[in-house]
Amino acid sequence: MRSSQLSAPDPVQQALLEAARHACTQAYAPYSKFPVGAAVLDEHGHIHAGCNVENAAYPQGACAEAAALAAMVLAGGRQARAVAVVGTGGHWITPCGGCRQRLREFCGPDTPIFTASPTETGPTHTLAELLPHSFGPDHLPTTP
Ligand SMILES: [Zn+2]
Repeated sequence: MRSSQLSAPDPVQQALLEAARHACTQAYAPYSKFPVGAAVLDEHGHIHAGCNVENAAYPQGACAEAAALAAMVLAGGRQARAVAVVGTGGHWITPCGGCRQRLREFCGPDTPIFTASPTETGPTHTLAELLPHSFGPDHLPTTP
């Protein structure tokens, strides 16, 4: 798997990371104690953020990426040009399997997915690296 870090901070990446870091501080994660924030950049240049929202009925919890995508769609965005995911806990976190598929709906194979902690920037992956040989809208006879 390829991973890379930008040598100089990119302003768009920095703005995405800032939004995801703020979202991480707003997470509702009383059960896992694992707050996550995510942010997506849409085709209009707007950034939409989301945080994980857990539930006492555990499977009803929602991931940060799903919340960020929902915010993007609500605002009229239909393409995610870049994604940032921020987590705590000492490891660079990437989207879970379900969220990789959610991102596949709105991202291209080369869409960068930045990882970060609240204070540091981690590796960048493309969606194709995280979800190779994926199934998406282009596989259906009627594509949105
Ligand atoms: Zn997820």
